[in-house]
Amino acid sequence: MAVTALGIPAIRQLSPPASGPAARTRPRVPYLLDQHGRVARDLRVSLTERCSLRCTYCMPEEGLPAITKNKLLTADEVIRLVSIAVQTLGVSEVRFTGGEPLIRRDLEDIIAGCVEAAPGVPLSITTNGVGLKQRAKTLKKAGLTRVNVSLDTVDRRHFAALTRRDRLPTVLEGIEAAVQAGLTPVKVNAVLMPETVGGAVDLLQWCVDRGLQLRFIEQMPLDHDRGWQKSEMVDAETLLAALSARFTLHEMGRTDPSVPAEEWLIDGGPATVGIIASVTRSFCEDCDRTRITAEGTVRSCLFSDAETDLRATLRGGGTDAQIAELWRAAMWDKSAGHGIDSEGFAPPVRSMGAIGG
Ligand code: SAM
Ligand code: SF4
Repeated sequence: MAVTALGIPAIRQLSPPASGPAARTRPRVPYLLDQHGRVARDLRVSLTERCSLRCTYCMPEEGLPAITKNKLLTADEVIRLVSIAVQTLGVSEVRFTGGEPLIRRDLEDIIAGCVEAAPGVPLSITTNGVGLKQRAKTLKKAGLTRVNVSLDTVDRRHFAALTRRDRLPTVLEGIEAAVQAGLTPVKVNAVLMPETVGGAVDLLQWCVDRGLQLRFIEQMPLDHDRGWQKSEMVDAETLLAALSARFTLHEMGRTDPSVPAEEWLIDGGPATVGIIASVTRSFCEDCDRTRITAEGTVRSCLFSDAETDLRATLRGGGTDAQIAELWRAAMWDKSAGHGIDSEGFAPPVRSMGAIGG
C-alpha cells in the first residue's frame, strides 16, 4: 500500500516565554540554554559566502556581496570557536557549511585543527559536491567524519537550470569519491521546486541504488531573490504523493526528537527516505542548533536577524570564558520559532547562503 499522508506529529510544547525581569534571569549553566528550555548541541559554522553554484532558491545570479578578507574568520579563529563550543559549551557535533565550504582552500587545515582542539567530536560538511572528487581523500585524512551533499535532481537539464551551472557530472563524481574515501554515511539533501518534483522518484532511485541516504527538505523563505511563496512550495504531502507513484512508503517517524527528518521505509526496507518538513511541520520546538556566520557572529535562529559579534572579542584579546559568556547570552534570547505562518512574517535579511544552512 502506498502511503501518501503524513501522520500527526508528537511535538513537545515549548515552555511559555519567560516574562518580567526575575523570570528572564539566565541561570548560570555552562551549556547553551535558551529561555524556552532548549539546549544547543549542534553547531553549524559557515566558512564563506562564496559558492560555485547559484541555486535559484538560495543565491542571486551574480553571487552574494563579497565578505572582505579582514572580516572573514581565519582558520585559527574557526578552530578556536569550535574548541570553545565543544570544550566549554557542550556542543557535541560540528558541521561546516557556507556558501560552499570547499571554496576554502584551508578546509583541510580547519578540519585537522578542530580534530586536535575537540577530539572525538563528529565533524561534517554540507557541500554542493563541486570539487569534492579532488578533495575527498585529503578531507578524510584531515579527520572529516562524513559529508552531506546537496543534489536536487539527477536530470542534467533541470540541474543546470536550478543551479545556473551545468555541473551535474562533477557533483555525481564527487558523491562517488566521498563514498570511496569512507566519508560515510553520505547523506544527500534535496530541495524540490515545482519544476523538479516530477524527477523526485528518479533521484530517490538513484540514491537507493547506491546506498545513499536521501532527505528532502521543504524550501524555506531564505532565497536571496525573495521569490518564495508558500502556495508554490513543494510541501511534504505533494512530495509523498509524487514518490508513491513508484514506491511504497511506510511512515517510521522521527527517530530522535532533535533530528528534523521524518523517516519513511521504502518498499518494506531496509532503505529509507527522510522528509524535513521545515515549513509545514516545524520542528522549532526541538531545535538544538547554534550557528556561527563566516564573519564570526552567533546566529541562534535562521529566521531571526539578531546576531552577536564574537569576532571583535576574539580579535580584541578576549578570553575563552568571555567568548563563551557572549555565546550563552545570545542563545538565551533565541526565538521560539520561525513564525512563517504568523501574520506580518518577513523573511530575514540574510539569505540561506549568507547565514550558512
Ligand atoms: N553550498 C553547500 C550546499 O549547497 O550544500 C552548503 C550551503 S547550502 C546554503 C546548505 C543547504 O541549504 C543546502 O542543502 C541547500 O539545499 C539548503 N538551502 C539553501 N537555500 C534553501 C532554502 N531557501 N530552503 C531550504 N533549504 C535551502
Ligand atoms: Fe551554493 Fe549551496 Fe546556496 Fe546552492 S544551496 S547556491 S550550492 S550555497
